[in-house]
Amino acid sequence: MSLDMGSPEREAKSTNRKKGSWAWTAGLILLLSKAKSLIGLLKLQTLLTALISVAFYATVYPWTFAIGLVALLFLHEMGHVWAAKRRGLPVSAPLFIPFFGALIMMKRNPKDAETEAAIALGGPMLGSLAALVCFGLWEWTGYEAWVALAYIGFLINLFNLLPMHPLDGGRIAAAVSRWLWVVGVVAFPIIIWYTGSFIYVIIWIWLMWHMYKRFFGERNRKDYNWTEGVYQTAADPLLPSWYYTGQVRRGSLPISAYCRMDGQHVATFYWEQLNYRGEMEINQPCIVHNATVVQVSEPDEANQITFTVRLYYELYEPSNYYEVSALTRIKYGVMYGGLAAALFAMMAYIHQIGALER
Ligand SMILES: [Zn+2]
Repeated sequence: MSLDMGSPEREAKSTNRKKGSWAWTAGLILLLSKAKSLIGLLKLQTLLTALISVAFYATVYPWTFAIGLVALLFLHEMGHVWAAKRRGLPVSAPLFIPFFGALIMMKRNPKDAETEAAIALGGPMLGSLAALVCFGLWEWTGYEAWVALAYIGFLINLFNLLPMHPLDGGRIAAAVSRWLWVVGVVAFPIIIWYTGSFIYVIIWIWLMWHMYKRFFGERNRKDYNWTEGVYQTAADPLLPSWYYTGQVRRGSLPISAYCRMDGQHVATFYWEQLNYRGEMEINQPCIVHNATVVQVSEPDEANQITFTVRLYYELYEPSNYYEVSALTRIKYGVMYGGLAAALFAMMAYIHQIGALER
């Protein structure tokens, strides 16, 4: 079991502080460490960042519109969350970034391009549907804010469908044809020219850099990544105390790596002298190289030692990652193209009837 706890050394230092503040800090740390595992906090994170975003948007738009905009972003993200859940991939709750949008984080990389595309498509699907509902509400009530929301909703989702990494469109394109990425890179300057907005130049450069990093940088990168875990076990009374103190054990521990039933990459290590078998989760497809103990504490009163194990691994992208059947390519191509065309048509329609100028 992996534990997130401070070493006894650190605890001893903190007792030197005033007792009141120590108790308060300890209480807060305990609360945070407990709450971290609760979904409640993740939802609170979503709620808090959503409120901050509303406040920011409200400086530019009427606050009712700001709420609507954040709700549209939320539904887009929930589309991703829903799609990821269906594929059994753990994701974080949505997080809002004022004037940037919102995002979710995948806690594990998808196993192939088709899975990545399915999760990417979920967002614009639900997001566009939400914008369409806004449009319907405008037709029904005649209240102008609804059509403005519908328009910006269509625009946001269409923008996200641009075939560039890491936008949703770039991820969907991977399961259709990777040539679409080239289309994205070439087509983007047209948007810059059309909008005449300098911010898009920055976004374009950022997207290009991202794509370069993913397709040339990361793939050829040979340097090792590492991850650490903190573990606790009973000290062996037969081992001399110097075994634990100061001197860090430099040797490698025997390891084995496997893929769990749910698709999680797991590495196990074995510390023979302590007869301790530990486990560590790795969130990226990788080749595990070795594990070493980088820090060991002295045995405490209960004869327990706390130690840190560092695992070195090399990222690896399965060579069949982009292998997608022809039928699947057509399926995603139709959904991707159809959705983009529908969004474009809705925006053109709103322009044509002059709903925004009224
Ligand atoms: Zn998205």
